[in-house]
Amino acid sequence: MNQVIYLRNRPEGRPSLDDFQFVQEKMPEPGSGEILLKTKFVSVDPYLRGRMRDQKSYIEPFKLNEPVESGIIAQVIESNSDDFEVGDHVNGMLQWKEFQTSQGHGLNKVSASTAPLSAYLGILGLTGITAYLGLEKIGKPKKGETLLVSGASGAVGSVVGQIGKIKGCRVIGIAGSDEKIDLIMEKFGFDEGINYKTTDNIQQAIAKACPDGIDVYFDNVGGETLDGAINNINKFGRIINCGAISLYNETETPMGPRHEGTFIKKSVLMQGFTVRDYVKEFGPPMQQLAEWLKNDQLTYSETIVEGFNKIPQAFLDLFDGKNKGKMIVKV
Ligand code: NDP
Repeated sequence: MNQVIYLRNRPEGRPSLDDFQFVQEKMPEPGSGEILLKTKFVSVDPYLRGRMRDQKSYIEPFKLNEPVESGIIAQVIESNSDDFEVGDHVNGMLQWKEFQTSQGHGLNKVSASTAPLSAYLGILGLTGITAYLGLEKIGKPKKGETLLVSGASGAVGSVVGQIGKIKGCRVIGIAGSDEKIDLIMEKFGFDEGINYKTTDNIQQAIAKACPDGIDVYFDNVGGETLDGAINNINKFGRIINCGAISLYNETETPMGPRHEGTFIKKSVLMQGFTVRDYVKEFGPPMQQLAEWLKNDQLTYSETIVEGFNKIPQAFLDLFDGKNKGKMIVKV
């Protein structure tokens, strides 16, 4: 039998294991022109929380009592297609199933000889590209500027910080434990770190770590951290609204301070960023990230959890900060 994971409930507030259901299905058989895929690596991502809500967004909500989907690396184990051979590995948006059939639309072949397969879900995949394009399209960091990054030890944030260093910035990261602060400074080369969980006043902590103010803020968390960053922003500062994980499980949107005055006086640019808007431009960032990796100018961390049945828990663990770098489930 084939194991499949459905979305059972639309969570109110923080999701739990009860919101998912394990279902046994008959093993799928590939039809004409189709391939049979075996799931190898599953990406769990904070944005999946948004797809559990029944609301209009840049991507369709999940349907209740149907499989959840995310970025997956799978191996072709049977092929009736001229485009794929048995043994090929593919990357694409696939369902949380141990085995599934596909016509191959939207799947890209990936090779373990270029990089470990899991890297295509992180540094060489959507999170790496998000870091690269968010900085390139909105942040535009210049040599000597101060770049502040929240979610700094995560999949996106750890790459943002390293690109900031390549561009010659002073880079400060915000993360949720002292161990993560050590990681971003020792492994990823950040100049300084702020543990937001042991900081009473995030605005003051940012001011102390950024004595020359902030030129670029790459925001992965939103909420009070964003407010604290805005209150330390420099003239012509740029803010990339990439994510707001601190708000994803809120049932009502909390009110914050009003920032219009700061934006006007300091000519600040704050722009939302959705990586999917740039799908046609993914080639050059992927090439550049791969080159930096090859030249040891870039490195990455992964938290790899093993077992298909661990997928829902790995997703939930993102909200407790249990990952360092990209959270991935190996099946
Ligand atoms: P991460 O690898 O950064 O994992 C999530 C991290 O968020 C956790 O490790 C945890 O780290 C932190 N976190 C969890 N809860 C909170 C909280 N309440 N307040 C502050 N931090 C919290 O995930 P990704 O790198 O995949 O994603 C980072 C952000 O970027 C997310 O907001 C995501 O939605 C967004 N994103 C946006 C994209 C786009 O196109 N706009 C594309 C990809 C991601 P800690 O221990 O530091 O708290």
